[in-house]
Amino acid sequence: MSEFPGSTGLVLNEPLLWEKSRKGRSAFSAPRRDVEETPLDERLQGPQPDLPELYELDVVRHYTRLSQWNFGVDSGMYPLGSCTMKYNPKINEKLAALPGLASAHPLLPDSLVQGALRILYELERFLAEITGMDAASLQPAAGAQGELTGMLVIDAWHRSRGSKRTKILVPDTAHGTNPASAALCGYRPVPVASSGRGVLSAEAVAAAMDAETAGIMVTNPNTLGLFEENIRAIADIVHEKGGLVYGDGANLNAVMGIVDMAAAGVDVLHVNLHKTFSTPHGGGGPGAGPVCVKKHLEPFLPVPRVVCEAGRYCLSEAFPLSVGKVHAFCGNFGVLVRAYAYILSMGAAGLERASRLAVLNANYVKEKLKGVLHLPHDRPCMHECVFSERTLRERGVTTLDLAKRLMDYGFHPPTVYFPLVVHGALMIEPTETESKETLDLFVEAVKAIVEEAAADPERLKKAPGRTRVGRLDEAAAARNPRLAG
Ligand SMILES: *Cc1c(COP(=O)(O)O)cnc(C)c1O
Repeated sequence: MSEFPGSTGLVLNEPLLWEKSRKGRSAFSAPRRDVEETPLDERLQGPQPDLPELYELDVVRHYTRLSQWNFGVDSGMYPLGSCTMKYNPKINEKLAALPGLASAHPLLPDSLVQGALRILYELERFLAEITGMDAASLQPAAGAQGELTGMLVIDAWHRSRGSKRTKILVPDTAHGTNPASAALCGYRPVPVASSGRGVLSAEAVAAAMDAETAGIMVTNPNTLGLFEENIRAIADIVHEKGGLVYGDGANLNAVMGIVDMAAAGVDVLHVNLHKTFSTPHGGGGPGAGPVCVKKHLEPFLPVPRVVCEAGRYCLSEAFPLSVGKVHAFCGNFGVLVRAYAYILSMGAAGLERASRLAVLNANYVKEKLKGVLHLPHDRPCMHECVFSERTLRERGVTTLDLAKRLMDYGFHPPTVYFPLVVHGALMIEPTETESKETLDLFVEAVKAIVEEAAADPERLKKAPGRTRVGRLDEAAAARNPRLAG
């Protein structure tokens, strides 16, 4: 049997900092005083905050131990479907940390930040070219905010033509943020069921589209990991009735430089730099969800926009139809630098190859596991594959049991119970950065767990058993938070 990277190492206990605290300990020594002693101001003499008192070594050990209890893509495979937890090359971190970039103040005059503005200007061009669109805004801080911005742009476009529509079509295979973004923008999301093939049919869209509907939001590839193959016909139907097509491009990792979204009929699209373009994520940010649009929507993009006049870059607010600002200054600059560095270091051919490998890896896992787990849509997938719970149920266990047990084998669990259209979904996105050896180990682990399920389902229900804490009550922390300390 293979050796899995699961947790077998020395696992040290670690109390809270307050429990380790001892009166009078300190992690620093101030230089010897060479001036008269002066009492600190009154505020500091009032009630003191309850801060732990520790030696430097206590602090170092505390945080080092906590960091080792964590799991990240730097420590193991993280096949969390829909999230694209691929490895982010360290060179991009290094470049984003260059003092001239990391310390550039956002209020510096344009003349002193020509390099930073050029990065923004060129990154917009790169993203437009990669997606096939005409212009981009780098302001939105995440995919969901990109969606909101895109919806605001769609709304502004309708208004500029003197119309106000009320509904947006959202397929049942869309990401959950799509209906939320439409609703935040004042539209009523209207669900459209996907066909038995797991994709949208032109007929279903034609039946739902009317003159009250502002457009459609299509996640492509969709959350089943399938390419919406009828997208062009769907776009034609929506356009014919005066609507626009919003493309959720957060799954761009499957189609970078391969699918021309404009040719597919998409009018506005967001991409997630923290998924596809080398910003570490999973800890809550920061991220970036740039919005790319076709020419007719460019006047509505957020301001300020970076413009280039006679070789000089500057920020301009002179776009009277703009939806306004959606983020302070120009967005999360550090994330944008990483994406710029990633795109330049990969080159056009490298980006396309990364997407092809992401698709190849997902199909490899799908083929290897399709006799082991139930595969509802048995056909080529894009960057991720989605299994159902059926085989596990037959053995008396659930998707959650399998996901928990994978931790014992040293893998981050895949996304579970999403998308909702698959019962007990297990959504695996291996990404292009995992080697065949790692994929094989993952497949072997899943197979071993399915066998365990047949032999001893009760034991599986208690998994994980080799991690620091065992099976947790998933809802207790939210319902009964203990914020002591
Ligand atoms: C991740 C994701 C989003 C949301 O992006 P955030 O940056 O988490 O807001 C939207 N759509 C799809 C398809 C996604 O995978």
